[in-house]
Amino acid sequence: MNHYQILIIGGGNAGLSVASQLLLKNKNLQIGIVEPSEKHYYQPAWTLVGAGAFDIAKTEKKEADYIPQNTTWIKEAVVTFSPEKNTVACTNGTEITYDYLVVCPGIQLDWKKIDGLTETLGKNEVSSNYSFNTAPYTWELIKNFKGGTAVFTNPATPIKCGGAPHKIMYLACDYWRKKGILDQCDVHYVSGAGVIFGVPEYAETLKKKVAQYNIKVHFGANVTAIDGKSKTIFFESKEQPKDLETKFSTLQASCYGITENQAEASISKVSLNFDICHTVPPQSAPDFIKKSPLADANNPLGYVEIDKHTMQHSRFKNIFALGDCTNAPCSKTGAAIRKQAPVVVENLLQLIANHPVTASYDGYSACPIPTQYGKLMLAEFDYSNKPKMTFPFDQAKPRWTMWILKTKILPWLYWNKILKGTA
Ligand SMILES: Cc1cc2nc3c(=O)[nH]c(=O)nc-3n(C[C@H](O)[C@H](O)[C@H](O)COP(=O)(O)OP(=O)(O)OC[C@H]3O[C@@H](n4cnc5c(N)ncnc54)[C@H](O)[C@@H]3O)c2cc1C
Repeated sequence: MNHYQILIIGGGNAGLSVASQLLLKNKNLQIGIVEPSEKHYYQPAWTLVGAGAFDIAKTEKKEADYIPQNTTWIKEAVVTFSPEKNTVACTNGTEITYDYLVVCPGIQLDWKKIDGLTETLGKNEVSSNYSFNTAPYTWELIKNFKGGTAVFTNPATPIKCGGAPHKIMYLACDYWRKKGILDQCDVHYVSGAGVIFGVPEYAETLKKKVAQYNIKVHFGANVTAIDGKSKTIFFESKEQPKDLETKFSTLQASCYGITENQAEASISKVSLNFDICHTVPPQSAPDFIKKSPLADANNPLGYVEIDKHTMQHSRFKNIFALGDCTNAPCSKTGAAIRKQAPVVVENLLQLIANHPVTASYDGYSACPIPTQYGKLMLAEFDYSNKPKMTFPFDQAKPRWTMWILKTKILPWLYWNKILKGTA
């Protein structure tokens, strides 16, 4: 059969959550899931893997074991959408038609946008927690570091889990502090952002940690190239290189600076030698989404154009999208999907019943940021960028209970409840 009542593109966190929740509401729905990968990954634990606090093997499971019963798994990759004909085409040439479409193929990691990165990733002391293959190498680098220059990068584009580029930095610094070598470590955070964290209440906690670990921050910095052999990172910066030392000493306290001086600063090219480097690639919508009629023409990164509250496509009313692939201005996380999936499910069922779509997503997202081993700040917020705390205590304060939530409870919930639509 090449027709499905509901066709889901992508069997990741979002796709499986939506499929399971739909079937819990109505077991007679005919659902097809297009997903090319034999494996399913619990990506949030890769930060812990990079810090030696989680087994990489436990982040990978067989997709077949999590595809919900009573759905059809189409083991293909979608290449084109024809929304006016309610059709998608797959790499093998198959065309599939649908009544309703749910689009959630995740985000694309644009490793090649940093010159030299693909050639050196996973060797020459250059790693990244953004890949299953290299997250364990991050731990090798942190564990074996004997002092010198450690660089952590964060791109200028939106990314999945905006906290991940600096989470690993705090854990590394804490490891070196415990080892008694932190004072021999020259730690740099080279970030495309203008602040350490977008929600001021949580940023305060992180600014203190940055100062405590003596991290030198470079905001407004766009990494353009990495040369693994000469161990050099190149970035464009709005800072004046000659002022670097003076600025670093004041930045340590405030974590702000470069963007405040944008008017007077010109873009300069900076190079920095490192002994180890943790990189995060720029990210964008998958190319097949960018090129499709579903993309938001006003979004340079090509995300799917949806109404940020109903999750319904702005132009094609029988299409919904969620997860990392949309243009909703929320933080791209699994935590956001937990709140988006029920909205998509409810609105889709309302549409099938010819009712108006009324369920609304408020932009909720969460970022669990470990500030040291055994302590974590659970930052929760919504579209207003205001804290939206679940627990009856100040979540801006890092706590052991939140570390247990991240390291033990959430991984269990993911495999046993979230993908099954019951949490
Ligand atoms: C290092 C790291 C740390 C993170 N930390 C956290 C955290 O602490 N908390 C948190 O909530 N989130 C975190 N995240 C983010 C979280 O993992 C993502 O937001 C989430 O997985 C997004 O779900 P998704 O379904 O949109 O995409 P994914 O889970 O990536 O799934 C997309 C699926 O689509 C499939 N696909 C791709 N192309 C096609 C195609 N052409 N046709 C059909 N299918 C296709 C893929 O194979 C994949 O299975 C982290 C991510 C990383 C990398």
